Amino acid sequence: MKALIYEGPEQLAWQERPDPRIEGASEAIVRPIASAPCDLDRAIIQGRTPLFPPFEIGHECVAEVIAIGEGVVRTKVGEVVVVPWSIHCGSCGRCRRGLTASCENVTPRAMYGTQLGGDFGGLFSELVRVPYADAMLVPVPDGVDPIHVAAASDNLTDAWIAVSAPLAKRPGAAVLVVGGAGGISLYCVQTAFAAGASRVTYVDRNDERLAMAATFGATPIKRDDSRLPEHDVVIDASAHPAELARALRAVAPGGECVSVGVYFLDVAIPILDMYANDVSFRIGRPSVGPNIEKVLELVRARTLDPSKVTQRIVGEDDAIEALRSRAMKPVVTRPRITR
Ligand SMILES: [Zn+2]
Ligand SMILES: [Zn+2]
Repeated sequence: MKALIYEGPEQLAWQERPDPRIEGASEAIVRPIASAPCDLDRAIIQGRTPLFPPFEIGHECVAEVIAIGEGVVRTKVGEVVVVPWSIHCGSCGRCRRGLTASCENVTPRAMYGTQLGGDFGGLFSELVRVPYADAMLVPVPDGVDPIHVAAASDNLTDAWIAVSAPLAKRPGAAVLVVGGAGGISLYCVQTAFAAGASRVTYVDRNDERLAMAATFGATPIKRDDSRLPEHDVVIDASAHPAELARALRAVAPGGECVSVGVYFLDVAIPILDMYANDVSFRIGRPSVGPNIEKVLELVRARTLDPSKVTQRIVGEDDAIEALRSRAMKPVVTRPRITR
């Protein structure tokens, strides 16, 4: 099979690799038909992370099921499914509590596309092994275009979890999204409205993202050094330490900040301001498993329209160029072969 390999900063290459095979009864082999870069992948490609090459990159995709192990009962060959970014069993204590990103039956941090916790391959590659098919794979409902829900594997569902949990505690609250990380910033704006936010304010220094956030109904604020307006719910989608600090200072008394950024170094946070304002702060690898179905239902109902964030739909031949480009959310597609 052809695998997309991260070889070093700005260096990607398609390489021949052995086809993955079913190694256990609960497994499946899938063929990605729509793969997207997580914002973390863009940082990896640009050499801005401590992840050392080479490895198969990619952890967001919709795939068709090619083969299943003898113990798989729910997943069917030919089915079109979202493949979650993390490897999880679905039956351990943590998985049953919804913490699929911290499954007890895999090496800690096990995921696609980084070699963290083992080599599970990457979701741009032609074939992928899924260790726990029934627990991990989520069917894409009829009426939902696979191309636009590749990010349900990670960024889109991450945004939904980040925004919907604090809004559930504060129905109709106004939400401040501090953007900058990439496509996930805009998914946070969309999911905030889908989760019932009365207003969404979007801060960024990128004019393209500001304009797109405005088309979604958010109030755009061009980033400068002034203090941000206080909100009960603040989402840090900046992946930038200084912006995280500003986001934390913008939380109204008793409010909550959730960060969807990944920080590879310790960063300073304004803990005295947080103390003074009784601020809750949450950050974590998203446990997408129990939430993907809900996100797909929101898309099917047109409450959420991630197609507006998709930019550039390409085939394998143009994948490397698209992934190195500035396109917000390119999608690499492959024809189906089971029908
Ligand atoms: Zn990711
Ligand atoms: Zn588990």
